[in-house]
Amino acid sequence: MSTLTIRNLHVSIEGKEILKGLNLEIKAGEIHAIMGPNGTGKSTLAYALMGHPSYEITDGEITFDGENMLELDVDERSRAGLFLAFQYPVSIPGVTVANFLRTALNARRRAENPEDKGISILDFRKTLKEKMDLLKMDHAFAGRYLNDGFSGGEKKRAEILQMATLKPKIAVLDETDSGLDIDALRIVSDGVNALAGDDLGVVVITHYQRLLNHIKPQFVHIMFDGRIVESAGPELALRLEEQGYDWVREKYAEAVAA
Ligand code: ADP
Ligand code: MG
Repeated sequence: MSTLTIRNLHVSIEGKEILKGLNLEIKAGEIHAIMGPNGTGKSTLAYALMGHPSYEITDGEITFDGENMLELDVDERSRAGLFLAFQYPVSIPGVTVANFLRTALNARRRAENPEDKGISILDFRKTLKEKMDLLKMDHAFAGRYLNDGFSGGEKKRAEILQMATLKPKIAVLDETDSGLDIDALRIVSDGVNALAGDDLGVVVITHYQRLLNHIKPQFVHIMFDGRIVESAGPELALRLEEQGYDWVREKYAEAVAA
């Protein structure tokens, strides 16, 4: 079973330490939620996982099925089975959703087997339609230019469709802390619920407790000042919903000040 292991991760941006010894283990088949106040380093974790060059790993390790991810660059991590849904996806005018996905899928296949001739257009169309049906998407969506003029909700759909097509082993969904309306939340949660299963592990990063009314994580973690400070089951999200983050700040601010 695929396992992503993060041990004692320290990450700095422009010389400032943001992650200060973070530990986390995710297995395929599990849904984890990482919650925490703004500015605690949630997005930093997502970027560091994917190997964004601005995020300097100063200590600790990230392994995926025992393989050291820190030695791999972004596309190698993606081929290994990691997937990061970006908070702010770029638009690619001129490239349709279908073209983009087929190119990405073929790159993945060729990485696994250099002899691979790529998926046939017919097979790809069939696969894509299946995924779009699973996600209750209009087939016309595949013919639009990627993210070009997409609404927030459509960008989310494109991300989830990408996840369905590329079939990662571990997907990290970093939800923007502002501007995610209830429709977008529902798109993400329905997509995750439709795709989650034995082969996929999901990490949903969110500031919003309400996302977890739709996605049912088995594990909820609270991040504070660059570390995971509490881990429990779904009841932890309920506690946050009722009590907010004040008790977290009170409990851990002393450790931070020290
Ligand atoms: P979260 O996603 O939990 O809101 P972030 O990971 O975005 O938190 O940010 C954590 C800290 O890192 C914040 O103090 C933020 O100001 C800082 N930070 C994030 N990105 C950058 C950057 N590109 N350059 C400098 N500081 C950054
Ligand atoms: Mg963030």
